[in-house]
Amino acid sequence: MSVILPGSLVNGQPATLGVMGGGQLGRMFVHAAQAMGYYTAVLDPDPASPAGRVSHHHIQTDYLDEQGLAQLMQRCAAITTEFENVPAPALFTLGAHRFVAPAADAVAIAQDRAAEKAHFVKCGVPVAPHAVIETEAQLAAVGDDLLPGILKTARLGYDGKGQIRVKTRAELVAGWAELQQVPCVLEKMLPLKDECSVIVARSAQAEVVNFPVQRNLHRDGILAVTEVLDGRVPATLAGQAVAAAKAIAEGLQYVGVLCVEFFVLEGGQLVVNEIAPRPHNSGHYTLDACDQSQFDLQVRTLAGLPLTQPRQHSPAIMLNLLGDLWSEPVKLGSEPNLLRKSGSDPNFTPAWDRVLALPGTHLHLYGKLSARKGRKMGHLNITGATPEAVRATALQACALLGIAPF
Ligand code: ADP
Ligand code: MG
Repeated sequence: MSVILPGSLVNGQPATLGVMGGGQLGRMFVHAAQAMGYYTAVLDPDPASPAGRVSHHHIQTDYLDEQGLAQLMQRCAAITTEFENVPAPALFTLGAHRFVAPAADAVAIAQDRAAEKAHFVKCGVPVAPHAVIETEAQLAAVGDDLLPGILKTARLGYDGKGQIRVKTRAELVAGWAELQQVPCVLEKMLPLKDECSVIVARSAQAEVVNFPVQRNLHRDGILAVTEVLDGRVPATLAGQAVAAAKAIAEGLQYVGVLCVEFFVLEGGQLVVNEIAPRPHNSGHYTLDACDQSQFDLQVRTLAGLPLTQPRQHSPAIMLNLLGDLWSEPVKLGSEPNLLRKSGSDPNFTPAWDRVLALPGTHLHLYGKLSARKGRKMGHLNITGATPEAVRATALQACALLGIAPF
């Protein structure tokens, strides 16, 4: 691929980078690209999409709309994606005419849990014991050793959606019926001590760099807190996780930013869970705690610019800000939440002024117009001089916002 220099002209128009999808990840990509001097184009049917609202160009069509894709190609020198469920055929179409990173075939693997697991096995990284269930015969052949387990749809699952926990064979059969007998993967339920993730970036020239390993806390299947504090993930484990993430990226001949999620088992073993072919919620701390963010690296890999190893300059904690904080009062034990009005109030806004009075707080809101329970509205990064200081501030922010402590 040729390098797309920031601020240059490409075929007579300002160098423009495109993104399929207009959610918050697209918005932060747009911010990073624009900061460097690129123009941007977003394809997303939603007129109010977070990224569409801040982009130079917003093409409001369906992802498979031929005219929309043609417009995007006409505008852009290179195109990326911000969510893994962008239809792979759309990326194949774009890839025939423009530089597309990550490539459609890598995205297609990440879109399918069965293909993804097969890729992990091929790369020699440990995965949860599992079975692919696409037919009645495969259902009947499932070994007892996989129960209790989690039945997951092979495609289109996110934030714990499309998953059913099954203890017995009868529950497995009922669960598959509930999931409309779509292709699924049954995974053995593992005893988790921790969850962590690693973000790597790989360039078209095969340079690979990584961010530090981050520790993730999920609540109700949704990421709630990410901690990136020295020693939070033991060094040996962190080394294994980075090596596994790089092997997975190499194996895909991946170009772009890739997140690999891991389980840490009670016994201390590391198991790969899943990958996301894009920047990831668990990497949002990089915006304020590292000398380059995951979105900066997404821009660099897309534009063919060099990659240098990013450096974390501050310990950090990220708190996800879900729609619950806007509308649903949360009672924290016996502590009344003084800032929360009782009952739902459409005009209620969390007390950001009080949160921002805490040192080292960085607020990121995605510009979404309505808050719903579980909807990702923004995140709060907390940085500080020491892990202890960061943690103390994060807990204060939790108390102010009505987020359960961790
Ligand atoms: P999603 O695509 O929704 O993120 P995941 O496969 O990452 O789906 O599952 C969501 C969460 O469910 C994980 O972060 C973990 O907490 C839990 N989980 C998933 N698979 C297993 C498993 N095999 N054993 C134990 N917990 C699991
Ligand atoms: Mg996950």
